[in-house]
Amino acid sequence: MLELKHIKKYYHVGDTITKALDDVSVSFRQQEFVAILGPSSSGKTTLLNMIGGLDRYDSGDLIIEGKSTKTFKDADWDAYRNNSIGFIFQSYNLIGHLSIMDNVEMGMTLSGVSRAEKEKRAVDALTRVGLAEHMHKRPNQLSGGQMQRVAIARAIANDPEILLADEPTGALDSETSEEIMQLIKELSKERLVIMVTHNPQLAKQYADRIINFADGKILNDSAPYSEHEADDHFTLKRTKMSFWTALKLSFTNIKTKKGRTFLTMFASSIGIISVAIVLALSTGFQTQIDKTEAETLAQYPITIAQQGQDTSQRPSQEKGFSKSDQVTAQTSAADKAQHVNKISQKYLDYLNGLNKKLAKNISYTYATGFNLVRDVNGQYKPVKFSNSNPERSGVDASAMMSTLGVGGSVYPVDRYGKQSYLESNYKVLAGSYPKAATDIVLVVNRDNTVNINSLKNLGFTVKENQKYNYNDLVGQTVKVVANDDYY
Ligand code: ADP
Ligand code: MG
Repeated sequence: MLELKHIKKYYHVGDTITKALDDVSVSFRQQEFVAILGPSSSGKTTLLNMIGGLDRYDSGDLIIEGKSTKTFKDADWDAYRNNSIGFIFQSYNLIGHLSIMDNVEMGMTLSGVSRAEKEKRAVDALTRVGLAEHMHKRPNQLSGGQMQRVAIARAIANDPEILLADEPTGALDSETSEEIMQLIKELSKERLVIMVTHNPQLAKQYADRIINFADGKILNDSAPYSEHEADDHFTLKRTKMSFWTALKLSFTNIKTKKGRTFLTMFASSIGIISVAIVLALSTGFQTQIDKTEAETLAQYPITIAQQGQDTSQRPSQEKGFSKSDQVTAQTSAADKAQHVNKISQKYLDYLNGLNKKLAKNISYTYATGFNLVRDVNGQYKPVKFSNSNPERSGVDASAMMSTLGVGGSVYPVDRYGKQSYLESNYKVLAGSYPKAATDIVLVVNRDNTVNINSLKNLGFTVKENQKYNYNDLVGQTVKVVANDDYY
């Protein structure tokens, strides 16, 4: 049973309010043929749309099988429309480019039946409306009456409990109208049929009940439903769809919209692929960097020198140049960070005993210096220097020669043809730039401090912070002594 309770539907267009449905209350039986008669614009179509769930009421309630539709969600309305309602329109509303079979099957797309079942139902419905032999034609190859039959076949293919017809014969001649009415009458034996018509003749001839409608209100009802009637109930069918049916339908849907699906897929792919590419690239880069880093570091030998450097000790920043004309002896920051490794035979044995797979090679360097002496007040004092750690000793032979641009014919000027490196980077405080490979240069810091070890190794007896005049330092002579003579 279907019941409308005080249904109102007002349309607001600009300042005018159209009362399409103005407090309509009416009940329909499980099975009857109801004709709704009324002048144009009286709200008949609106009423039908309301009953069919195509439109929502403003107030009141539509009660389907004792259940209020006030709390209906969209899914409930969908289920109701798909399973319980069949629509027939005056203008047939067929899809021109689909065959008649497809048009009928279309109405069942959402009802979740198998393809074979849909086909069977469509054939049954078309046979029932007398179109068995026209099944594979297109709508434009049919007459108006035949098209309305297709629309009826579509409406009943799903076997709905309620058939709604909005002026189904409005566009047909009287003879064809009679045939259609006959068909609808036939169908009304199994279900509730509510038909809107402007033709009182047809209504009287075929309908069980006539409701006169005007200005959104019911004027009279030829057979109103009474509360005491025993009425068979119809049950609200839910949209039932198995997982596989849903999946199959989704595929069918995708197949029918190839272009759109392709575009959506294409667009999504671009997004997904971009993210993937970015992730892949960054991961790849990171991996490659890690690998290169590891490989590069692996190329470097681990050197254990006699002197080690504590890198956590940073030399203090030098500020400005000194105005003093003296030189201060100071332990350099680098020296303060120094420590000496005791490399004994026992340690070498330990290294030799290491797993050979841990390193490609283990090698040792033994260095011997050559002997330098300086004449200090008639006494020869040894001058120490180190090739491996000039920072420590403060005295360095070979590296200075080339980097300072000393060495006669080898580096008279730097490689760009400019002044020598020494001349462009160092200022002479006393004496002159070196002219021969055997000249000695004492390099001082900006604040005129000098590595205390440089002085010690040059044979000076030095205390921390001791000051020297330039003349104390410039002009000293250092001699190279052969090992035989030295020892
Ligand atoms: P009928 O089917 O009896 O000719 P309708 O139900 O189509 O009448 O329309 C009833 C009234 O509601 C008419 O005055 C119509 O202009 C108005 N109406 C219908 N639909 C709308 C709408 N969507 N917006 C505004 N007014 C509407
Ligand atoms: Mg209408």
